[in-house]
Amino acid sequence: MLRLLFPPKCVLCRRLLKLEETDLCHDCRKDTRQFKKSKSKIPFVAQWTALWYYEGNVRKSILRYKFSRVQSYCLAYARLLALKIQQAQMPEVDIITWVPVSTLRRFKRGFDQSQLLANALGAELNCPVVSTLKKVRNNPPQSGIQEKAARKANVMGVYRVRNPECIRDKSLLLIDDVVTSGSTASECARILMTAGAREISFAAVAATSHENNNKKM
Ligand SMILES: [Zn+2]
Repeated sequence: MLRLLFPPKCVLCRRLLKLEETDLCHDCRKDTRQFKKSKSKIPFVAQWTALWYYEGNVRKSILRYKFSRVQSYCLAYARLLALKIQQAQMPEVDIITWVPVSTLRRFKRGFDQSQLLANALGAELNCPVVSTLKKVRNNPPQSGIQEKAARKANVMGVYRVRNPECIRDKSLLLIDDVVTSGSTASECARILMTAGAREISFAAVAATSHENNNKKM
């Protein structure tokens, strides 16, 4: 009945899905470039993965999710990401958490896209989702900064750990929508480890494809 009222569309190309299709149409499932196992290390992160590369319809899909309030996308992303995490043999985790947006951005946008994604992923993986980080400074967007050292400097001291007692000796899976240089994930992992977490793994919906170049981020 719901399918008749709100026929589901492919989250990438927005084509109407056939009855046997879920989240993605046949073509997108077949043709979208899957993220390969990463050779790049993100400092302080034990292991990480992503679903796709941040390009073409993937990029458009994530922008719709972030800016056009297509909030249902987080369910589709979470279902696909849960599969990917299992296939990638990521470490067992005690807690799922996310890279937060600032209070101001959250207020303007009305939601935190990574929090929604983390919640949906927690439901898929049957794992508790805990808010562990707070963005305490509004830094310029990482996307506008090219140089690696500058990106790293731009995220230093931007986040704080909310409640260190919740993460002590725990293994955490950190979630973000897009990973570019890995500087943000690394900074979050660094302060979580400093606050007593045992291990941090990381997953994103998409990674920029220069990540392919096998260089240390
Ligand atoms: Zn499609």
